[in-house]
Amino acid sequence: MTENITGRTSSIKPVCKIPQRPPVFYATDKERFTILCPQMSPIHFSLLQNSFAEEGYHLDVLPEVDRDCVEEGLRYVNNDACYPAIVVVGQLIQALKSGRYHPDRTALLISQTCGGCRSTNYQAFLKIAVQKAGFLNTPIIPFNINLSSGRNSEGIQMTLPMIKKLIRIFLFGDLLMRLSNHCRPYETLPGSTETMLNTWMDYLKTGITQEKRFDITQHAAKIVKAFESLPLTGENSKPKVGVVGEVLLKYHQGANNHLVSIIEQEGGEAVVPDILDFALYCLTGDRFKTVFTRVPFFTRLRSAFLVRLLEYYRGKIRKVLKNSHRFVPSEHINHLAKQAKSVLSTCNQTGEGWLLTADMVEFMETGVPNVICVQPFGCLPNHITGKGVIKELKRRYRNVNITPIDFDPGTTEVNQLNRIKLMMAVANKNRLTAFPDGHG
Ligand code: SF4
Repeated sequence: MTENITGRTSSIKPVCKIPQRPPVFYATDKERFTILCPQMSPIHFSLLQNSFAEEGYHLDVLPEVDRDCVEEGLRYVNNDACYPAIVVVGQLIQALKSGRYHPDRTALLISQTCGGCRSTNYQAFLKIAVQKAGFLNTPIIPFNINLSSGRNSEGIQMTLPMIKKLIRIFLFGDLLMRLSNHCRPYETLPGSTETMLNTWMDYLKTGITQEKRFDITQHAAKIVKAFESLPLTGENSKPKVGVVGEVLLKYHQGANNHLVSIIEQEGGEAVVPDILDFALYCLTGDRFKTVFTRVPFFTRLRSAFLVRLLEYYRGKIRKVLKNSHRFVPSEHINHLAKQAKSVLSTCNQTGEGWLLTADMVEFMETGVPNVICVQPFGCLPNHITGKGVIKELKRRYRNVNITPIDFDPGTTEVNQLNRIKLMMAVANKNRLTAFPDGHG
């Protein structure tokens, strides 16, 4: 009799080697384990560590991705898997192999979106990779966007204080990203934006975790005021370039070959949408799904509650930004869904789905006609809602300048750079034609 992966016994001998079940991480193990978290967005994720520590978890956010991570990923994940999967698995295995962590006292955190595309399989990719690499006692913790990470006492237990801290982290991470991306291309004193960004990140690291009554409006107002005081030269004179696409590639500077820096070097201003939009897109999905399928009432209720809660808090920051003479606030998720609906069905919920289209429409509507769409090579969902709608957008709007850029382990950076340079040349030319005096 042999035991299969589901735990059932069978008299049939397996013909192929089935990966062994990795051990389970229970919340009670938190004292003994270090949890490795793959990097996704340096601003947001650097705020995470302290908040988890407050709850007794030793979370270690891995640093930037380099070429070795990708090579490591390719060693354990089939190269027909998505590029983000290769990057994430590679990062975690590289850390385990580095010798910095005891594999029996280290757990691996991986996000799980439970959608219709391959992101649902990231956990399985990682399970196989961990076994192949010989780390049989390393547990894997799946983390779901609906703030659950396992059943009963498995995984990370989301307490109310922790949820509150997570919301603050993403709200303020988005705010800092928005403010710094706007200021950096025009800074009078080179490096002043980065200095200000680091100052506020340090401030938030302790503020978010230690302040019992963390006043979002008050803190947001302080930060916005500080960034408004940064001396800038030629503000708003450069072409704005929106960045849309697959979530990891959009925010992870290591994975997207430092796209924001390239845009800035080429004379543009990068505009990157909020990470919270992605969480809200996943949560609102339950509402739109009911058109074709049945979604349990409790699931819909929970998602609707979380959307309201997130938008309620984001509304406070939006209010502060509306009063700013320098910065533009983000849009409500319902508004984005409405924008997407004018082009395609909001039932496109695989990958970045309708959010990708919504971001592009929103950019066109707000005077950002230049867009770079980053997508993993062979990512079918994002090719449909990204590349697939360009023709329609060109029909609707003037001067549309959208460049899709594919990423995979074999893509040459030179090729990507040439495409960005070409797009920037068109962006600069269009801007000069529209605003000959250089301001708009
Ligand atoms: S969205 Fe694309 S890249 Fe991401 S998991 Fe799905 S298929 Fe892969």
